[in-house]
Amino acid sequence: MIVLEDLMNNSFSITVDLEDWYHIPSVCGSPFAVYRSVDEFFEKWDDKYDFLTEPTKKVLDLLDEFKVTATFFAVADIVENYPGLIESVVERGHELACHGLHHTCKIDPETKKQLISNEEFEQRTLLAKRILEKVGGDKIVGYRAPNSLVGGWMLDSLERIGFKYDSSVSVNSLYNKTDSSLSTVSSTPYFPIENGLEVGGNRNLVEFPWAYYHNLLKIPASGGPILRFFGAPLVLNGLLQSLRRGHTVFYFHPLDISCAKFPSIGNNRPFYWSLKGKLVEQRIRYILKKLEDIDKICLRDYQGL
Ligand SMILES: [Zn+2]
Repeated sequence: MIVLEDLMNNSFSITVDLEDWYHIPSVCGSPFAVYRSVDEFFEKWDDKYDFLTEPTKKVLDLLDEFKVTATFFAVADIVENYPGLIESVVERGHELACHGLHHTCKIDPETKKQLISNEEFEQRTLLAKRILEKVGGDKIVGYRAPNSLVGGWMLDSLERIGFKYDSSVSVNSLYNKTDSSLSTVSSTPYFPIENGLEVGGNRNLVEFPWAYYHNLLKIPASGGPILRFFGAPLVLNGLLQSLRRGHTVFYFHPLDISCAKFPSIGNNRPFYWSLKGKLVEQRIRYILKKLEDIDKICLRDYQGL
């Protein structure tokens, strides 16, 4: 049983989203994608697709160097298309969690309306959970919505199919990728209401929101794109502020530190990936060094889960 008081402590979780360049909404699995689905992408794409394996190995070495056990939110189709990659994550002692079957959007990025039914979401997510459990060996209890597009209804479904937590909510003034106002949400773990993302529920599923920096605006202090475009000092200050509030979450992608040139298909892709690679790796390294003495736990080990 989770006790709310126990949720407030000075630790944080480093999380890594395991996905490749084509999982992103302008390429696959969104209303404006070049390919309707990852299946269609693989039917038509005849060039190199794997830009994920190399930077994932770098991330694993980086985490070893800083003695960090992290939570990896993996897209389940990686099991089939990158043999051995997820095994290498699990062998190094990291938690495996679910980032969807094919990383498709479940709510419309513009209108936030449901794109699939609850039943279809549950079927697909349960399949993803089973695929990951088969390769990882342990029960999968954590979920992160692809593209952080999350609706309150999704949490009801996740709880129904055996998840213990979600980590998709990012409170900030720049964007809201959810179907809720997020008016009562902070950067500390909480119980969401039924069919919503606001604080105040009485259920057995916890939301772990991401860190944010609060000055005049609230700016997310977590995530590869923020690290790439805003730099390390803002992210570090946001993490420190969030840690004062309680437990918080930091995340990035292996793709963020890749030095390769990705295929430039899809809207805004060249701009989106204009900053990444060694520079971003140095920024992650700087943050990990500064926060070396803070306890880091993978999300499934959070007290009470
Ligand atoms: Zn993702």
